[in-house]
Amino acid sequence: MYKIDDLVYPISRFCPGKCLNCNIYQEDPHIENETSIELFEKILQSKVLKDTFYFSLTGGESQLSNKFIPVLELIAKYKPKSYIHSNTSGWHTKRTIEVAQKGLELFDKDRFRIDISVDGIKEDYERVRLTKDGWEKAMNTTKELLKLGLKPTFVMIVYKQNYKSIKKFVEMCHEKGVGWYIGFFVESDNFNNKGKVKYYTNQEIDEIETSLYEIGFMDSKHYVNWLWAKSVYLGNIPEFKCMMGSRSLLIDPYGNVYPCGGGQEKRLNKMLYMGNIKDYNGNLDRLLNDKKALKVLDNIKQKKCQPCDLLCAHKIEFPWGKGTGL
Ligand code: SF4
Ligand code: SF4
Repeated sequence: MYKIDDLVYPISRFCPGKCLNCNIYQEDPHIENETSIELFEKILQSKVLKDTFYFSLTGGESQLSNKFIPVLELIAKYKPKSYIHSNTSGWHTKRTIEVAQKGLELFDKDRFRIDISVDGIKEDYERVRLTKDGWEKAMNTTKELLKLGLKPTFVMIVYKQNYKSIKKFVEMCHEKGVGWYIGFFVESDNFNNKGKVKYYTNQEIDEIETSLYEIGFMDSKHYVNWLWAKSVYLGNIPEFKCMMGSRSLLIDPYGNVYPCGGGQEKRLNKMLYMGNIKDYNGNLDRLLNDKKALKVLDNIKQKKCQPCDLLCAHKIEFPWGKGTGL
């Protein structure tokens, strides 16, 4: 029933930053309610995670959490061959370098990835990411990571404010010797940006697609993500087969277990809530085999949470091809 390849674990929602299209920074992150490191160690010993090999340590600005390095150490202890993926704004050079050094000590270099969110070229950055001197800080972090021998990936989420820079963004990444990743905006309760994001005209959607062809994105496995985003923006999302929940899980900072980011949406929370790990004293096997979690798998199978516009899931079979996690 379960074959969990990936665990998404936003260690903390704390973020001292400021961005135009994400309002996480405006919330109280309730650090006092976060799951303890002891509980995380129990989670890692669950049978359902026996073959898990990919950990996405998202947030907030999770690298700032004092749990971040202990979490890395525990993953290395129980799942030493894992792939680790951590994202950061790049504003906290000293801490990111500390995290990177630890990551390189614990994992193979090609299994430890740090993403820096820059959302385009410098001019875009200043429109979308509003933290003072953020660009300079992110570039400084990049330089220090490269010195360590770790090549970060720059992330650009495409918005109305930056879509014209897709090609320039990729050129810049080549010049700087970093990797690149392009994602697409989503309106979500998680980012508290509903009704606040500007939508594209049909012509702008065509322009984005042309740029994606020009940079080779449509020849990569990620093309499925654009077709999903486009269907959301055009209001014609098709039904698809979703294996989130049985192949991938998300455990939020407070121990709530969901199949995907959808659990953090008000309209989907009840339908996708599998349980809280604190109520099971870290026993994820028991939680996932309880009625509540099994009902969630059934809801997903019956497509009750569709049409789905979340753009975050990767264990999916779309009408146009398989998701990037399959
Ligand atoms: S996008 Fe990232 S850095 Fe910006 S406010 Fe949201 S969590 Fe913080
Ligand atoms: S269809 Fe969407 S909301 Fe439902 S489980 Fe899959 S990704 Fe989550």
